[in-house]
Amino acid sequence: MIALSLAEISSIVGGQPADIPDLDAQVTGPVVIDSRLASPGSLFAAFAGERADGHDYAATAVETGAVAVLATRPVGVPALVVDDVERALGALARAVVERLGTTVVALTGSAGKTSTKDLVAQLLTRVAPTVWTPGSLNNEIGLPLTALRAEADTRHLVLEMGARGVGHIRYLTGLTPPRIGVVLNVGSAHIGEFGGREQIAQAKGELVEALPEDGVAILNADDRFVRDMASRTKARVVTFGEAPEADIRAENVRLTENGRPAFTLHTPSGCGDVTMRLYGEHHVSNALAAAAVASELGMPVDEIAQALSEAESLSRWRMEVTERPDGVTIVNDAYNANPESMRAALRALVAMGGARRGEGGRTWAVLGQMAELGDEALTEHDAVGRLAVRLNVSKLVAVGGREAAWLQMGAYNEGSWGEESVHVSDAQAAVDLLRSELRPGDVVLVKASRSVGLEKVAAALLADG
Ligand code: ATP
Ligand code: MG
Repeated sequence: MIALSLAEISSIVGGQPADIPDLDAQVTGPVVIDSRLASPGSLFAAFAGERADGHDYAATAVETGAVAVLATRPVGVPALVVDDVERALGALARAVVERLGTTVVALTGSAGKTSTKDLVAQLLTRVAPTVWTPGSLNNEIGLPLTALRAEADTRHLVLEMGARGVGHIRYLTGLTPPRIGVVLNVGSAHIGEFGGREQIAQAKGELVEALPEDGVAILNADDRFVRDMASRTKARVVTFGEAPEADIRAENVRLTENGRPAFTLHTPSGCGDVTMRLYGEHHVSNALAAAAVASELGMPVDEIAQALSEAESLSRWRMEVTERPDGVTIVNDAYNANPESMRAALRALVAMGGARRGEGGRTWAVLGQMAELGDEALTEHDAVGRLAVRLNVSKLVAVGGREAAWLQMGAYNEGSWGEESVHVSDAQAAVDLLRSELRPGDVVLVKASRSVGLEKVAAALLADG
């Protein structure tokens, strides 16, 4: 964070100083909302949560070094008292971003924000100092906290923006006005909360509405809802995808024998070959979006292709591949699931299994519910079960309730299967089954929506190794 005096912060957030002996005291960061993360020079923002009230931890934060507290009432230690801590945090972030003149790259979409943000970050750090959202801190608190990590020399700020409803992204873009805005896709995530795909598109499109005339809207040409957002922006539009008319395009998309996606990247300024380290072909779309951002910020295409080929997963439980000492490979993709990423994960599993077939290994798909699919839930689970059979996955273990039954039913309906597909009630039952069956050379994919918590299965299997 750039150094700011308490007097400056007070005037930015419209705060009333309380118990502050020296308004010239400097806040050098970080800004934290967890008192245990406070350190000398930091500012502690006190939020009232469901279980705890940050105001009760103000004294602890100051003892650990926080210069002051942003709070809604005096707390007996140096504080700037404001009406609304969230708004104050937002105002501070906005002022800092304005003062620094940093280029803000904002990303939104139903799936792939974090994956793409991590790719963009790894590309842009090669060009200039870059700060990015850690993990998925993409809401009205996480976003300003991230922006406030920017330093005097930070040139790019890469921010994930999440929306749970109309107006959310508009608020976030008001805090950190983006010059480059990326919309990845309009899927079914949170479809229940939104009411429908049109509403999701309405909400995500607020990102491109916020872009200035000299900004760039980077839109997925393969997604109709995203493509149509071109009419909602003043900014120049750059498209990405496999569609032939896309500006940034992937051709000859394939999986290597290890299950890694490979493709030829086409841009208006040239081509380059990419073989990714990330697993699953859904990352091709994410990679194209990242390439579009980097290209706009002046990175040559051969460097983009190289950086995409070297990029790692920076976030947990997304196609995390670990080989146990006994030769069993666990693919932990338990972070989340939707139909598209399920299909991509199954294909990657089969490719990985193929590479190990010589060792007598089998492929196991340990799958659970894909949440929030509304009316499409039955058909989509059925289709995933069927695909597992068509791809010749050795064993399907469907975990959970009704949706797991649909997965198994799909497999059954695709024919030929009996004991190759099993339905177990919960994670523990899946672990028990796998423990007795796994043998060296086997590859196990673990994937479901977040709420299913299948990472417990992956963790238990990894602990066995
Ligand atoms: P969140 O809303 O939880 O922050 P996110 O949009 O940041 O999610 P990621 O964390 O990148 O998304 O990925 C979540 C899951 O979505 C991954 O586990 C993966 O299965 C899937 N996914 C990633 N990229 C895509 C994509 N381009 N299309 C479809 N699914 C994807
Ligand atoms: Mg995320």
